[in-house]
Amino acid sequence: MLEARALRKTFARTVALDGVSLRIDAGEIVAITGPSGSGKSTLLHCLAGIIRPEAGEVRLDGDRIDTLGETERTDLRRRSFGVVFQFGQLVPELTAAENVALPLLFDRHGRQESLRSARSLLDRLGVADCADQRPAELSGGQTQRIAVARALVTGPRVLFADEPTGALDSLAGERVMDALVRAARADGTTVMIVTHDNRVAAFADREIALRDGTVTAGVTA
Ligand code: ADP
Repeated sequence: MLEARALRKTFARTVALDGVSLRIDAGEIVAITGPSGSGKSTLLHCLAGIIRPEAGEVRLDGDRIDTLGETERTDLRRRSFGVVFQFGQLVPELTAAENVALPLLFDRHGRQESLRSARSLLDRLGVADCADQRPAELSGGQTQRIAVARALVTGPRVLFADEPTGALDSLAGERVMDALVRAARADGTTVMIVTHDNRVAAFADREIALRDGTVTAGVTA
C-alpha cells in the first residue's frame, strides 16, 4: 500500500538514507526504530511527501508520489495523510475542539458539522472533557491525544507520527499510544510511528529498525 524502494537522501555530506526499501500494508501499524541520527525522521518525511528523496521511489497504492510537484504533494498530504509531531503543535488561541476541526474547516466543511466530528473523535480518544479547553490548560498527554484526533479527523489513509510520546512520561505515553492504536484500528488506518522507545514500538504490529540510514531488521512482515 505504501512502498519505498532504494531511497537515498543526503544533507550536505551526511547520508541520512542509504538505500531504504520497505512495504507497509493497508491497516498495518509499523514502528520505525533506531538510534538518534539513524534516518528515522528523514524516512518519515520522504514517505509522507514532505521532502523528496534524491534517488529511489515512494509509491502509494502503486502510484509514484515522490515525483509529484510541491502543490500536488501538498494536496496529497491534505487528502490522504495525517501527521502527529512530538509536541502536538496545536494552535494556542483555539480550543481543543476547534483545533481538531481545523483540517475540516480548511476543506470547506461547515463549522457545526466540523465541530461535531471533532467532538466525537475527542470522545473516542478519551479527551472529550478537554473539548473547550485551550492548549495552555492541557497536559502533555492530553495535547498529544488532541493532536492525534486532529490528524485522524479527515479519515486519512496513513497516519504518520514522529516521536508522538517523546515529550511524555511513560504512563502518559502509553495512554497516548493506546488511544492512537485503538482509533487507527477502528478505521483501518495505516500507521507509521517513528520512535526510539521500545515501549512505543511494542504497540506496533511490526518494527523496522534503521541504523546509519539502512534497514537492519524487520522488512518482511
Ligand atoms: P533520526 O530521526 O533517526 O534521529 P534523522 O532522519 O533526523 O535521524 O537524521 C539523519 C541524519 O541526517 C542525521 O545525521 C542528521 O543530522 C541529518 N539531518 C537530518 N535532517 C537534516 C537537515 N535538515 N539538515 C542537515 N542534516 C540533517
